[in-house]
Amino acid sequence: MRIKRNISIFILAAGLIFLAIFIFEKDNTAKESNFAAKKQGVLVTPAVTPIASPSATPTPKPLTFAEMNQLYGPCVSLPVLMFHHVEDLTAAKTEGHLSLTVGIDYFKKDLEYLTSKGYNTISPEQLISFFDNGVALPAKPVMLTFDDGYADNGTDMYQAILAAKVKGTIFTPTGLLNNPGYLNWEKIREMAGSGLISFGNHTWSHRNVGGSASVIQYEITTADTQLSEQGLNNPKIFAYPYGLESSQAIKDLKTLGYKLAFTTVNGRILCEKKRFDLPRIRIGNSSLSSYGL
Ligand SMILES: [Zn+2]
Repeated sequence: MRIKRNISIFILAAGLIFLAIFIFEKDNTAKESNFAAKKQGVLVTPAVTPIASPSATPTPKPLTFAEMNQLYGPCVSLPVLMFHHVEDLTAAKTEGHLSLTVGIDYFKKDLEYLTSKGYNTISPEQLISFFDNGVALPAKPVMLTFDDGYADNGTDMYQAILAAKVKGTIFTPTGLLNNPGYLNWEKIREMAGSGLISFGNHTWSHRNVGGSASVIQYEITTADTQLSEQGLNNPKIFAYPYGLESSQAIKDLKTLGYKLAFTTVNGRILCEKKRFDLPRIRIGNSSLSSYGL
């Protein structure tokens, strides 16, 4: 009887010790994981059964120049700089379009920088000749483009271009011209007459070309007709409003005889087989060296 009681006490004691060890371990594990989580700054959530995640697709590595040349060539390394407003920054702030403005002083510095580094501004015709006939581009080619046809492009910016004798291209939504804040046709003809500025199609009303086929066709064709009427459509070039491309727009542009179309996608390798999908570099108020030039 005594032995039996001793055994019972022993079993009970052993059970209690076992339980104590179990609780201690469990508590410690929880503390450790809490500590690790706190260290990483994450919330502690109860363990859940992981749900199988879809197999991760690796981010494709950007193609090298040689690879692009083989796939889409001939290609050229050509920074196409994209500007909108170019004017005094205080005025731009008052007018509410600071984010779309490069200060005239910065712009003048940009032109000085390009000249001092041996860059040569080229016209759209020169890029087309390279694509179509293999005509070599000058050393360190660069293109200056200006979207939307704002009135300030015809004042300080135009004077800076004339003084520096560089080439630029303005993409105009033709239906907005002659309105307050936009260039007018008279000024455009004067600028084109300098031989330094080319003009291109940016639709009629600055509409994105992702809508219905009839709207896209109307937008592109109306601007095409208006530019042609002014003798400004040779060669035919286009920039997608908001950078948005569409296969319908490309089809219409090809039908109308367009040779180049620019996006707002960042890049500087331009290839013949991607001539309706050309990248640009958006420029702000910092030195051109900060954009890799
Ligand atoms: Zn635009």
